[in-house]
Order: sequence, then C-alpha cells, then structure tokens
Amino acid sequence: ADRFHSAIEHMAQGLCMINKDHCLITWNRKFAEMYDIPDELLREGAPYRAILEHRIEMASAPGNQPDFIDRELGKKTSSNDDNDIHELPDGRHISISYETTPEGGILSTHKYITQRRLSDQEIIHLAHHDGLTDLLNRRSFVSYLGDELERKRSVGELTLMTIDLDGFKLANDKFGHAAGDAVLQEVAARLRACTRRDDLVARVGGDEFAIVLKDATDQKDSASFAARLVDELSKPYDFEGQPIEIGASVGVATSPHDADEVGALLKTADIALYEAKNDQGNQYRKFSKEMRDKIVDRRQLEDSFVHALEQDQLEVYYQPLICARSNLVTGMEALLRWQHPQRGMISPTLFVPIAEDLGLMGKIGTWVLEQACHDAMQWPSPVRVAVNVSAAQFHTRNLELDIELALDKSGLSGERLELEITESVLLDDDDKVLRAIDCVQDLGVSVAIDDFGTGFSSLSYLHKYPIDKIKIDRSFVAKLPKSNHSLSIVRTVVSLARSIGMATTAEGIETREQHAVLREEGCEQLQGYLFSKPVPAKKAAELIRSLNLQLTTAA
Ligand code: C2E
Ligand code: MG
Ligand code: MG
Repeated sequence: ADRFHSAIEHMAQGLCMINKDHCLITWNRKFAEMYDIPDELLREGAPYRAILEHRIEMASAPGNQPDFIDRELGKKTSSNDDNDIHELPDGRHISISYETTPEGGILSTHKYITQRRLSDQEIIHLAHHDGLTDLLNRRSFVSYLGDELERKRSVGELTLMTIDLDGFKLANDKFGHAAGDAVLQEVAARLRACTRRDDLVARVGGDEFAIVLKDATDQKDSASFAARLVDELSKPYDFEGQPIEIGASVGVATSPHDADEVGALLKTADIALYEAKNDQGNQYRKFSKEMRDKIVDRRQLEDSFVHALEQDQLEVYYQPLICARSNLVTGMEALLRWQHPQRGMISPTLFVPIAEDLGLMGKIGTWVLEQACHDAMQWPSPVRVAVNVSAAQFHTRNLELDIELALDKSGLSGERLELEITESVLLDDDDKVLRAIDCVQDLGVSVAIDDFGTGFSSLSYLHKYPIDKIKIDRSFVAKLPKSNHSLSIVRTVVSLARSIGMATTAEGIETREQHAVLREEGCEQLQGYLFSKPVPAKKAAELIRSLNLQLTTAA
C-alpha cells in the first residue's frame, strides 16, 4: 500500500478517486495543488461535493459550466471512460479523464495541456523573451552574450551597450501603466529598427535594455551608434494622442578591451551607464578605467565616512564675512571639514553628497548647528554665524526644533544665527520648508540663498519665501573684472535684491580688483580668500580681531 501511495504521490498528473456515494477515497498532492484545495477538505470519506463547491468559490473550476458539480459527481456511472477539457478562469487548460471503478466510483486524472497547445518553438521563444516587448529577456541575453564572447575570443571585438530610460518612472506614474507599457513597446521597436537582425537586443529590467553589436565595430562606430540610440530613444512617444517625453542614458563597453567575461563586461557597461545617468542623463558614456577607480574610491570613502562623526574626524572651520561699508567682520560662515585618518583633509563638496546618500546629513547638520552656535558665543557680539543647511535637514529632521535646541544649549540669540540654503531646497515646493523657514525667522534667525545663479534661479520663490540675503556664486566673482557677462549678472542681482529689500554677499573674492568691482556695484557683504581662508574654531576669535584691525587701518 505504501508503494502504491508513493507512486500516486509522484505522478505528474493530479489524481482523485471517489466511491459511489461521492466520498473521497484517495487523491494526490498534485490534484490538491492544481485546484488549490485546502487540507481540511481532503480526508478519506470526505464529501467530494464540498471540494467541488470550494473550487467554484475559489475560481478553480471551469468558468462556463453551470452543471459542473452534477457532471463531476454523476460522470461516467454508465459507460467506461471519457475525457473532458476544462478551461479555468486563470487561463489554464486541464485535460481530465474519468474512469468508473469496479465498485461504481469514479477515478479521475487531471493534467495541464496549456503547453501542449503551443508548438515546441513557441515554448522556447516564450522562455527566452520578455512578454511585453518580445525582446530577449535578461537570462537568455546573458547566456547568448556568454556564447558570443566565447566565439569571439581572440577573434574580434564586441560592443555591449546598456540602456536606462530617464524619467520613465515619472511618466509611468503620471500617465499610468498602460502608457508605460506602450512606451516600453515603442522603445523595443526603435531598438529593433536601429540594430541589425543578428544583433542581440534585450529588455533586462523594468526600464533597462541592452544591446550587443555582433559585428566587430570600431570605437568610432560604436560612439556614433550610441549617440544615435540616445537620439532615437529620446524622441517623444505617443500614447493615445498624448505625447510623452522621456530620455535615455547609454553605457558602452567593449570586449576584450574593457573586459572579456560576461559578468565583468556587463558591470563595466553599467558603470559607464551610471556615469551617463548621474551626469545629467540623456547621453552616452564609454567605459574607462578611471570610472571604475572613481567608484572604488567613492565606496572606500563611504565606508570610512560612516564612523567619521563618532570618531571625531569632523570639524567646523570658519570663514569671515566682511561688511563692505564698515570693513568690519560681521559674520563667520561655518564650513565642515573631514580629517581623514589616512588621506588628510577631504573637501565637503566630496563628502557632503556621500553623507546625504548615506542618510547621515541630518544628524551631522544638527551637530554643525550646535557646534557653530557654541563657537559663536566666543566671538564679539555683532559677529553672526552662518550655517549651511542641507535639504536632508528639512526632510529627515525637525529643523525648527534643532535650531531652537542649539540656540538654547549655547545661549546664542537667534539674531546671531543665519542659515544658508541652496535654491534646490526652495524649489522642492514643500510646505515643510516654508513652515520651517517661517518658524526659524520667528526665532530671529535669518535665511540666505547660497550659490545664487548656479541653480534654476527662477526667482519665483523669492516672493514665496521671506529670504533675507542672496549670496552671489563664486563662479561669477571669479570671472570679474574681465567678463562683462558676469558683471551684468552681479549688477542685476544686486539691484534686484535691493529693490525687494534683500542684502547681497559676494563669495570667493580672491583679488583686489574683484574686491573693488564688487564694492562699486554695491554688494553689502564680501567673503573670500582675499580676506581669509576658513580657519579652525580655536583661531576664529583671534582672526576676527586681527582682520578688523587690519581692514579698518588699511581703509
Ligand atoms: P559654500 O557654502 O558655497 O561655501 C563656500 C566655499 O567656497 C567653501 O568651500 C569655501 O572654502 C570656498 N571659498 C571661500 N572663499 C573662496 C575663495 O576666495 N576662492 C575659492 N576658490 N574658494 C573659496 P568648502 O569649505 O570646500 O565648502 C564647499 C561646500 O560644501 C560649501 O559651499 C557648502 O555648500 C558645503 N558645506 C560646507 N559645510 C557644510 C555644512 O556644514 N553643511 C552643509 N549642508 N554643507 C556644507
Ligand atoms: Mg555657504
Ligand atoms: Mg556658496
């Protein structure tokens, strides 16, 4: 009996036997699985009707047979065998054969026929292709690429391109999944149109595609092909008359030059793709060794940055802000420094983005605030402290509360604190930001826009937010006095700011000529290496004293 049970358990078909009273006698696991029948309904002597009713309820019975139960129970009590095909609501086709047992019960076997209905060729095609676009799927693409590399080994070159759509997710959210699907199908069509018949074209992820150019192409060819891909894929898409704009980034790698093994080659192309995407997108990049070094470098920096704060490797430096009219130091900007144990001082332009990605900038920003307020208490009272605030502090922290605490803890009055925020924070169009700014201004804290002119400079936010000051970006100052363009920008910003009651600061002043021009143009506040580089906290008070002396006697 054991062997009999084991045999039916291992059948490829589902099996079920009932007696003449329609009670269950035997069945196998396959049967239960096919129709999703729960264990409680499956015991010897259980009423078969209950199982059939359950199947109707759970939509695992043929959709269009009102007399399904009667037919299943009464089936084949007279003649010997019969066959039937059931189509389940989920699309599965099952062929069933019924046999009457000598005792007058019914033995039925159930097997899937969906696959039988397809030709072998169709089955192979389905297994290798993506259902939506009919391009190769990732698995088969990787395996074909491996074959191709094997064939080409030492014979020729092969170019791999990985493609990622820019802004696809946004479009998908905005226009809906049907539109998203239509775009992906159109992308597939464009890729097919760009390539030759025996090139490999695949959809390797949601909005990621890959191409292998089999014909040994030279570097110039592959570059112009990649450029054409970007062009073709960023032409507008049409969904039911609605134009949809997305872009595409492309990473290019060649074998054997960049890598000669499947995994490594895919990775190099992805590194190039990442570069293309990160640097504005909608362009292609060819892999280079420097790209890999950069990524390794960045990963190492990330690893060592994680503990920088705990291990006291972060420090705040201060750079003076000078009043153009009185020639006195009226403020000090707090600038974060990372003293790396092996690599020495690392620039915040390098590690602040890392800290943001690691989700650490909220915590670090709070620490800078506290530190800056504390240090400012050591300075003469007209000198204020300016602190750079990252977007993360608005989003992951309660900035108002952090500032209130930092002021409380240090005893600094709110009037002596100034926040420097970048335009991108304001363009987020977030009520949270507006509320935070309102709250801190109630504490007497002022707000400046940093790096003005490098971002969107849409100016629309100037009406919405009560900004106190604009810091004209260093890049304009650097081109003075020669560049007329920079001069007219400085002039425009100063007069615009003045007309709406805002002050201006010019940052990055390095020469006397720049100093003279900016004073002439009416900038209220000046900052730059000409006056002083940023210095450690313990030297700040002394720097204020000596600068005040030096600048007022010189003037
Ligand atoms: P920023 O706020 O625009 O700061 C001005 C940068 O220009 C500073 O670079 C400063 O050292 C540099 N600089 C000042 N005068 C001159 C000059 O005459 N010539 C030149 N070539 N450069 C000058 P630093 O300290 O490397 O900081 C870079 C950026 O990092 C800052 O730009 C700021 O955006 C960010 N940052 C620094 N500290 C913090 C911080 O505590 N929190 C946040 N969120 N960002 C920070
Ligand atoms: Mg700043
Ligand atoms: Mg700046």
